[in-house]
Amino acid sequence: GHPRPPAEPLTPHDVFIAVKTTKKFHRARLDLLLETWISRHKEMTYIFTDGEDEALARRTGNVVNTNCSAAHSRQALSCKMAVEYDRFVESGRKWFCHVDDDNYVNVRALLKLLASYPHTQDIYLGKPSLDRPIQATERVSESKVRPVHFWFATGGAGFCISRGLALKMSPWASGGHFMSTAERIRLPDDCTIGYIVEALLGVPLIRSGLFHSHLENLQQVPTSELHEQVTLSYGMFENKRNAVHIKGPFSVEADPSRWGN
Ligand code: UDP
Ligand code: MN
Repeated sequence: GHPRPPAEPLTPHDVFIAVKTTKKFHRARLDLLLETWISRHKEMTYIFTDGEDEALARRTGNVVNTNCSAAHSRQALSCKMAVEYDRFVESGRKWFCHVDDDNYVNVRALLKLLASYPHTQDIYLGKPSLDRPIQATERVSESKVRPVHFWFATGGAGFCISRGLALKMSPWASGGHFMSTAERIRLPDDCTIGYIVEALLGVPLIRSGLFHSHLENLQQVPTSELHEQVTLSYGMFENKRNAVHIKGPFSVEADPSRWGN
């Protein structure tokens, strides 16, 4: 899109970045993040996990043990998102951003993007994972269901929500409400966010091409534009290794994410 003029200057303390992880990925994934982007942005980064890890706690403050189940179930993931949301509201910060533990966050680009929107207004920023709204069935009462459709930002690419909007989400997202809202549509945590924002509050997702998950071909991000991207990822796509194209001293075997280069 077109570059937008800054609406307000932002400092690192204005943004809350929640990183979702699970104990089995502390060594396999989080260590890489701590060695790359998190190391320079500890004041804005909060790690949400499901098991104690002294080695991790020694390396960084801001580790939140959610006490959620370590299963990959819809309920366990919603449980984590609920804790992320509550911690953000408590923090008093201007922006809530959620990422997975296989995301790289380019904080300079993130601050620039967020600064172009007013945090007091209703802003939901991210990349849709589908090319059409998701169709769901909303359970409105014990015996009544109705179809509902809405866009949502894919959690695997990261998304951000302004404080103004986050506070309006409270009746469906705070305390234990997020879990019961997720059960109403029986969809994952990132879909539930879209449901609350688009379907219940009527606030449209603002699409940004600067967020990237490993569900897209990351080789297609032009090398010359890498520094402008807000998030990157790495992993598998259609059974092939998927990562951005960066030449550097480390081989693909030594650094599959390419972020060490
Ligand atoms: N995750 C989790 N609990 C699990 C499995 C995964 O919290 O039991 C987190 C993981 O740390 C990551 C996100 O969920 O932040 C997505 O997991 P993954 O990348 O393995 O799956 P994807 O959906 O991207 O294929
Ligand atoms: Mn992933």
